Amino acid sequence: MLKSCGRKLLLSLVGSMFTCLLVLMVEPPGRPGLALGAGGGAQRALQSLGAAGPGPGQGPPGLRSFADYFGRLSRARRELPAAPASPPRPPAEDISARDVFIAVKTTKKFHKARLELLLDTWISRNRDMTFIFTDGEDEELKKQARNVINTNCSAAHSRQALSCKMAVEYDKFIESGKKWFCHVDDDNYVNVRTLVKLLSSYPHTQDVYIGKPSLDRPIQATERISENKMHPVHFWFATGGAGFCISRGLALKMSPWASGGHFMSTAEKIRLPDDCTIGYIIESVLGVKLIRSNLFHSHLENLHQVPKTEIHKQVTLSYGMFENKRNSIHMKGAFSVEEDPSRFRSVHCLLYPDTPWCPTNVVY
Ligand code: UDP
Ligand code: MN
Repeated sequence: MLKSCGRKLLLSLVGSMFTCLLVLMVEPPGRPGLALGAGGGAQRALQSLGAAGPGPGQGPPGLRSFADYFGRLSRARRELPAAPASPPRPPAEDISARDVFIAVKTTKKFHKARLELLLDTWISRNRDMTFIFTDGEDEELKKQARNVINTNCSAAHSRQALSCKMAVEYDKFIESGKKWFCHVDDDNYVNVRTLVKLLSSYPHTQDVYIGKPSLDRPIQATERISENKMHPVHFWFATGGAGFCISRGLALKMSPWASGGHFMSTAEKIRLPDDCTIGYIIESVLGVKLIRSNLFHSHLENLHQVPKTEIHKQVTLSYGMFENKRNSIHMKGAFSVEEDPSRFRSVHCLLYPDTPWCPTNVVY
């Protein structure tokens, strides 16, 4: 009996060692990848990875079971520290919310499902500086929001449709004359106070590109130089799902590759999504480095790791799903998780307790 147990134990030990060895072999350490993913959130980064993996037109590689799972886990661990990358910088310029242009990308099917939450929360305090870029007419939305721009881009989640919206965002920013361009998705909460504070530590006339990468290494891509000539490039980019900002000084320099129809043709040249194209223009073409900030958050990272005591210091937050599990910040707040699954209403009450619909006497 004992002998047979011993043999079983030995066999299972050998078995698990073999499995670990297999996992290590299948997942080469040099492959770029995701932080802890979140539902559809993986899609944009996976589209990006498509450029690093198979050739043009072959589409994104799917998640490769075990290897991807372990890969994501270890990257999530690497993402762990949520502390700011660098100590607070002294103010460089006295700016206010009026100097910032926040572009929110959305699509008609999310006007009710996602935008309403933003309009009730952070946008309600920042109507003039917020510009909503969508793809369909909505009279109701126009009553609720001050700046709604129908881009007439296709209502799809394709690379082309997303780039079409980013191109319009860029042109409208240049037209606005404001000092800073910031882009966010419709599943982001923006803490405008901390955003303005962060941006005021950089002069808007200099080259500034600030945000958070979703990959742990530069993305590898190929740029099309001519009909049958390709050239390898690698660069960092700030993930659009966490939001990013660009100074006016830098945005003006991007014009030959980003204004008018140029953004779409640049995106075609590297066949990558909108946020990667921004990184390509800035890092690869103009040679300006991305400034990393851990104050921006997408649902491609484990949002549970944002410390409860630091929530008010973050610039952007997000929420999403991962394998049918909710990925959102962890906080005790004015509302229960059932009432407020994104936690955005609770964050808003923490930041603006005088909001009429926020309960009074909440202990955080
Ligand atoms: N989006 C869009 N068209 C679509 C689907 C999504 O413009 O058909 C926008 C959406 O409103 C959001 C962004 O693209 O601002 C990212 O979409 P989502 O959060 O669903 O996916 P992710 O890229 O984060 O995986
Ligand atoms: Mn998203």
